[in-house]
Amino acid sequence: SGVVVCVKSANPSEAITCEDSMNIVFVSTEVAPWSKTGGLGDVAGGLPPALAKLGHRVMTVSPRYDQYKDAWDTSVLLEIKVRDTVYTVRFFHCYKRGVDRVFIDHPLFLEKVWGKTGGKLYGPVAGEDYKDNQIRFTLLCLAALEAPRILNLNNNKSFSGPYGEDVVFVCNDWHTGVLPCYLKSMYKLHGLYKNAKVAFCIHNMAYQGRFAFSDFSFLNLPETFKSSFDFIDGYNKPVKGRKINWMKAGILEADKVFTVSPYYAEEVVSGVARGVELDNIIRKTGITGIVNGMDVDVWNPVTDKYICANYDSTTVLDAKRLNKEDVQATVGLPVDPDIPLIAFIGRLEEQKGSDILVAAIPKFIRENVQIVVLGTGKKVMEKQIMKLEEDYPDKARGIAKFDAVLAHKLFAGADLMIITSRFEPCGLIQLQAMQYGTPSMCASTGGLVNTIVDGVTGFHMGAFHVDCDAVDPKDVEAVATTVRRAIRVYGTDQFSQMIRNCMAKDLSWKGPSKKWEEELRGLLRAPS
Ligand code: ADP
Repeated sequence: SGVVVCVKSANPSEAITCEDSMNIVFVSTEVAPWSKTGGLGDVAGGLPPALAKLGHRVMTVSPRYDQYKDAWDTSVLLEIKVRDTVYTVRFFHCYKRGVDRVFIDHPLFLEKVWGKTGGKLYGPVAGEDYKDNQIRFTLLCLAALEAPRILNLNNNKSFSGPYGEDVVFVCNDWHTGVLPCYLKSMYKLHGLYKNAKVAFCIHNMAYQGRFAFSDFSFLNLPETFKSSFDFIDGYNKPVKGRKINWMKAGILEADKVFTVSPYYAEEVVSGVARGVELDNIIRKTGITGIVNGMDVDVWNPVTDKYICANYDSTTVLDAKRLNKEDVQATVGLPVDPDIPLIAFIGRLEEQKGSDILVAAIPKFIRENVQIVVLGTGKKVMEKQIMKLEEDYPDKARGIAKFDAVLAHKLFAGADLMIITSRFEPCGLIQLQAMQYGTPSMCASTGGLVNTIVDGVTGFHMGAFHVDCDAVDPKDVEAVATTVRRAIRVYGTDQFSQMIRNCMAKDLSWKGPSKKWEEELRGLLRAPS
């Protein structure tokens, strides 16, 4: 039993690469636009093309959850034995925006999901996991470790042949925590991948891949790795049980640990709550934060097809009034462009603090203001937002749908975004809002701290209580106070200036990809 890989059809011709360029392999359970449930998918979609633009050879490896029309079967098969079963995976491929997009094909991915978005990547419904996720993600990691060696890719003028072994793997979140372990036990120990390095990037500390301690034996890793996985649930007492923790292993076995903003990097080592019980481990390894970029082609008010009036920074003030009227008409609120309109967009979960927002609405709704809440998630929270219309028919709407068109309309038509996250590793909403000249009122956590400047591009509310079991009245008060403060600025010259400040920011992947380049180069140059 255990894990064995065997290559069925290899083409081991010599890799040809350019002098200064790196071979970078991203491994991720989601990659936009093929698969996405959140920020992770956006990063795996947007950062690789930006690195390719800098001259690097870049591959992403992710599951083939659907029959993607643009990706072809490479006819390369790989047999992977996990526990007592042999799994045959196939590699599908397409070359887009300078990046080799590799998709791992196996019924464990394809049969379960059938569709490119939504919550079915990880479990049958949101919040529930597939029982065999450890097997699924082991397959992903083992296939990803073979991809640079066996895939003969020839679609780029500068590079041809397999990537070879001088690569840096960029692992993402707990699903890839086993990759650096297998890299060591199955390859490095046998003289393969001698110079390869692993960066491990954390997109959300809240999901760690904790499983029964006895599952360690199924991973078929040498005993020496056991301590990296070993984890006591609730490390502060009372001890809830001994587990294995995939993310802990990823953090400890990778060459360097990253996360998606400098402030989140500080928060996760600040204590047990924000570090979600891995703060002690990350204090040992260190962690580097790089703020995410965003896809400025998809989110662009000049070309956006979903909004009724396109605009740039010179026309934003007039266009916003038209777009606001469009939103008001769409959701059935009184149409009046002089009323400040607030929007919330996000998953309805404790992380996003939609419960805090709902508690705060009665405290500010008597102001001259309207609010639209768009989100899906926990049923209780969906009910909470759908009730808003009943309570405040002229003022508030809650829409429990995933509606990309309405999201675009809200970024363009709202005057203020409201972001009430208890924690937010990077956050995309505030970046999207900025692109559309919409200042954010935000909780002071994670990437929100790095990207929103109070009085310049938005309004800060302070950090919220991170304990998710209750709504802290202090946080509710902070939301209401900030809304009142922002409404006083609305319509003033300062507010117009804030709108312009937002739109002047370069939020593309250009800046972040240079930082990643520097970090990955440093890693590859470090002694093995
Ligand atoms: P997370 O990754 O934690 O969900 P982010 O702020 O990084 O949060 O990204 C959320 C993404 O999903 C953004 O692109 C946002 O516009 C989009 N989004 C969230 N909820 C909805 C919804 N109900 N309808 C349309 N788009 C949504």
